Amino acid sequence: MKIAIYPGSFDPITIGHLDIIERALNIFDSLYVVVSVNPSKHGFFTVEERLDMLKEVLKDRPRITVTTNDKLTVQKAKELGATHIVRGLRALTDFEYEFQLTHANRVLDSDIDTLFFMTEQAHSFLSSSAVKEIATFGGDISQFLPPYVSLKLKEKTKNR
Ligand code: ADP
Repeated sequence: MKIAIYPGSFDPITIGHLDIIERALNIFDSLYVVVSVNPSKHGFFTVEERLDMLKEVLKDRPRITVTTNDKLTVQKAKELGATHIVRGLRALTDFEYEFQLTHANRVLDSDIDTLFFMTEQAHSFLSSSAVKEIATFGGDISQFLPPYVSLKLKEKTKNR
């Protein structure tokens, strides 16, 4: 059984993330979508809210498990029996960061490899940060997000 872990902030999950998830499921039997908990990084949504959205959006996919991680990604991968870390690449700007991360993870645990999916062209300009910014200014974010997430983001920006 091939198992992978897809770590990220998912603050919130977008259709760009969903595309990476769908494609990873073509390769792996089981995929852990993991919200990385970083105490020094303050999210827009709480970890619980992000988990709730991921669980709702991914509820019909039995091969996916949604969870959190407050350890090193490679430690969590080992613990879950995953052999690969899945990440997405958009523009060149992602590359530098992902390059450093991949090599650091490789040094930390050479058994765990990282697999990248190049974004769909249509999602190449899509990021959680851009979507939050558009929502803050009252723009239409529904085309970038699963409907449940779109609703939650509208609620959140309204209450701010
Ligand atoms: P992080 O804070 O770890 O970068 P994100 O939730 O922003 O977490 O992203 C998780 C992963 O998904 C990263 O590898 C990122 O490059 C990728 N990703 C984010 N948005 C997209 C997108 N629109 N298309 C493809 N990959 C994406």
